[in-house]
Amino acid sequence: MVNCVNGCGSLKAVAYEGVTIDSCNSCLGIWLDYSELTHIVKTKEQSWSNEYIESITNEIDKPGIHNSENDRNLSCPKCNEVMPPVNYQYSSGIIINTCPSNHGVWLDSGELDKIQIFMEKWRETASQNQSKYAAALAEAKAQHEAQLAIDPSQGPSRFEFINAIFLGILKFTE
Ligand SMILES: [Zn+2]
Ligand SMILES: [Zn+2]
Repeated sequence: MVNCVNGCGSLKAVAYEGVTIDSCNSCLGIWLDYSELTHIVKTKEQSWSNEYIESITNEIDKPGIHNSENDRNLSCPKCNEVMPPVNYQYSSGIIINTCPSNHGVWLDSGELDKIQIFMEKWRETASQNQSKYAAALAEAKAQHEAQLAIDPSQGPSRFEFINAIFLGILKFTE
């Protein structure tokens, strides 16, 4: 049983796009692990109205993390460690919280929609993004390969690797 990081009580297991995620009935937050988030981002089952996509698009795509996010001090429901805020894909403006020991990711109400809309938009403009992120990706890849040299069994798949970069697991300087 997993409890809501906002203290609402226990989360409810919900089927979503082929995976089971833990959802809070009260604050509508979601707890899931990286592989589940990766799966959801890859799967295009959910669709949204153009109006909704437009409103989300206006809201997202901002770099940095507001101080108020740092003050939240959300604890991982599995290990109780503080989950620092991460700007998903570095500059999406979608601030998620991730367990430093990789137990999972906390998404506030609506953030799963925002991530999917952001990633679909991002894929549409992948060629521009490639040049935008090329240097950062090269640096992250070098760090990733250095890590693999230490323990090859820890290597995530190519997609998970890219997704992990955007989750901020692999740190690099821009
Ligand atoms: Zn809650
Ligand atoms: Zn944890």
